[in-house]
Amino acid sequence: MAEILVIAEQRRGELAAASLECIAAAVELKQSGGQSVVACIIAQNPESYVALLSVAGVDEVITVTSVEAEFQSDIFAETLQALIEQRQPGLVLVPHSIDAWGYAPALAVRGQYGFASDVFGIRYDGDDLVATRAAYAEKVHVEIDFPGRQIVLLTVRGNTWKQVEESGNPQITEFAMPAITKRSNHETFLEPASGGGVDITQAEFMLSIGRGIDEEDNVEQFAELAESMEFTLGCSRPIADNGWLPKYRQVGQSGKTVSSCSIYLALGISGSVQHMAGMKHVPNIIAVNTDPEASIFSIARYGVVADIFDIAEELENHFD
Ligand SMILES: Cc1cc2nc3c(=O)[nH]c(=O)nc-3n(C[C@H](O)[C@H](O)[C@H](O)COP(=O)(O)OP(=O)(O)OC[C@H]3O[C@@H](n4cnc5c(N)ncnc54)[C@H](O)[C@@H]3O)c2cc1C
Repeated sequence: MAEILVIAEQRRGELAAASLECIAAAVELKQSGGQSVVACIIAQNPESYVALLSVAGVDEVITVTSVEAEFQSDIFAETLQALIEQRQPGLVLVPHSIDAWGYAPALAVRGQYGFASDVFGIRYDGDDLVATRAAYAEKVHVEIDFPGRQIVLLTVRGNTWKQVEESGNPQITEFAMPAITKRSNHETFLEPASGGGVDITQAEFMLSIGRGIDEEDNVEQFAELAESMEFTLGCSRPIADNGWLPKYRQVGQSGKTVSSCSIYLALGISGSVQHMAGMKHVPNIIAVNTDPEASIFSIARYGVVADIFDIAEELENHFD
């Protein structure tokens, strides 16, 4: 089978973790299909990323020296079109990132490749590639195939594949960037509102609050409880939408995925598909809800039908 080409990303000199997750997806496919895995990095100093990209299972790293320090969509689209034409990979994997949104769909249209975005499952059914992604606001998962397409480009959801830890010894190849007509420039980075040093995607223990807390004045009680338990405070979307907690604490489809979490305490959260998209993988979900029919109980390891304020009081006494 034709090779799998992974397009790595860097920003401000840091390799994006999602690049290594795409490589992990490619290496997993290689184990069943035997294709070679090729990683490509486009940067002003691409050599500095080669060691990081040289993980077990990667056969070749292609370096492309860019005239720009930061991402620029025309550079990626035109360079990758030339590279794909030369290499003819069967599959191209790109992180599902803000950068990819700027060039991947356009590149797929130009090259007439098969395309799917935000993919979190990839497999071969015989020779046919099948990608899984969500639809209807995460309510259903759909499998997509690409009949008649020799080349398929997929943007891959982050925090889905675990990075390969072992290092490898790939061949290093250079690819010359073609002459490019740039239609935009990277000016500067605007920082988002600070996360105050909190990154819920890296938290091991989470205490998340939902609309069951009833009013803003009650947030403080649960924030203090989380602190005394040494849990990171998270929330459902209505809490962030109301401005009761900052957006960076929101778990779910339009918030964050708590990918490192091992214990998730859900207090007064009903368990909408959108919330569960960010936490349903957690091995130990403990849900407290007064409604025994709440959907959150369908994925909880431990379910407590109770008032969250009573449970909070018990926990406060315990962790005091
Ligand atoms: C495109 C899109 C993206 C979205 N993205 C997200 C997202 O990223 N994250 C997210 O969370 N939501 C998201 N939502 C919103 C989602 O659909 C739900 O509306 C939301 O998750 C509900 O939040 P909740 O569970 O806190 O509130 P509710 O659904 O109102 O549930 C509150 C729960 O608290 C229980 N309760 C009430 N009082 C108590 C009490 N005293 N003790 C115990 N239990 C009590 C109730 O029984 C109820 O089950 C999204 C929606 C859309 C359309």
